[in-house]
Amino acid sequence: MPSRVPSLAFAAGRAEMGKEEVVEGSVWVPEPTLRTFTTTVFRRLGVPARDAVVTADVLLTADLRGIGSHGVARLPRYVVGLRYGAISKKDASKIAKQTRSTAVIDGGNSLGQVVGRKGMRLAIEKARTGSLAFVGVRNSNHYGIAGYYAMMALKAGMIGISMTNAAPLVVPTFGRIAVLGTNPISVAIPSGEELPFVLDMATSVVPRGSIEVYDRQGILMPLGWAVDASGRSTQDPKAVLEALAKRLGGGILTLGGEGELFSGHKGYGLSLLVDILCGVLPGAAFGLDVYAREEAANVGHFFGAIDIRAFRPLRDFKRDMDKLIRMIRESPKAAGHDRIYIHGEKSEAMVRERMGKGIPLGPKVVASLQKIGVETGVPWIAG
Ligand code: NDP
Repeated sequence: MPSRVPSLAFAAGRAEMGKEEVVEGSVWVPEPTLRTFTTTVFRRLGVPARDAVVTADVLLTADLRGIGSHGVARLPRYVVGLRYGAISKKDASKIAKQTRSTAVIDGGNSLGQVVGRKGMRLAIEKARTGSLAFVGVRNSNHYGIAGYYAMMALKAGMIGISMTNAAPLVVPTFGRIAVLGTNPISVAIPSGEELPFVLDMATSVVPRGSIEVYDRQGILMPLGWAVDASGRSTQDPKAVLEALAKRLGGGILTLGGEGELFSGHKGYGLSLLVDILCGVLPGAAFGLDVYAREEAANVGHFFGAIDIRAFRPLRDFKRDMDKLIRMIRESPKAAGHDRIYIHGEKSEAMVRERMGKGIPLGPKVVASLQKIGVETGVPWIAG
């Protein structure tokens, strides 16, 4: 077990603008360069042009928003899935059932980004006539950041909701085996002059990637992130990762942490809610069965669109959203802090910065992209 304790800044794991840490030795790649590379790789693997563009867009949006764990760093996993047939190259999704305000899409084991975008578009389309709509998706794959889909509703003047279930890495309150995924929830709500509210969060305390960072550095994790095989909170990242990989027990804790003292049971409730709406409702895999079969992950998603105009004029709603946001932002700050953020604000600032400066990629990510470039015959032009 490592004995070194991390600094508080490292424990937060979010150096730049309070978001992800820029790894030492990173190269800054212009966004268009990375977009072209990623799209071309998907094309070379047999993904149709339109779907390659969509998939790359979801990955690049994550990188621009400072969510590197869900950006191009994940390309190798998609490449393997496409190459070995675990993910269908062509979009094989179809509507399995629908009413005026609901639909179930069978993803046909296609790319999660392609099916996800389709699901959210359908929800928005149906909400245009029915004021609100919900779409469940089964038989899909990892769809990246939940926020991408929720934000699609903003332009339509609607509230967007997006959730997905994921591979079991998370332990329920009082449990000692990972039965749930990090199951993210995103809700995007338009405002007027202010930035939209974009909540986009996992329902676990941290993603697996954060524990991997501690393991690589050989340092102790903060107490309350994960439990060992006995179900007790541990600071040993290696023990947690190994136990998870071998399914020996233990795993990441839900929002709120261990037990009931800091409301771990509420995070557990949110995680379970996501698995019910994404897994049980559309007939996708749930709990231990997500990613249980190598040939088909059977991930489930859930999308919603609510037309604000069904409640009150959009202009009035936006005006009051601005008012609420300013009320919060201008309220007194805690000692040591000079700013209160609204959800989505840091990501938007990051997008603006990275559109100019480029996207930072650590040496390991660059090496994996170079390798993919060689394998697929797509020249890697940076770093
Ligand atoms: P974070 O903890 O970084 O952020 C969660 C939310 O809190 C964001 O909306 C963020 O806004 C907001 N926020 C951050 N700091 C503050 C603050 N000080 N005040 C107000 N709001 C704040 O996200 P997670 O680590 O939980 O999730 C990262 C990503 O991983 C998400 O995009 C999620 O969808 C994705 N994910 C995907 C999974 C999958 O299987 N596909 C599984 C799990 C997660 P802002 O964006 O502005 O920082």
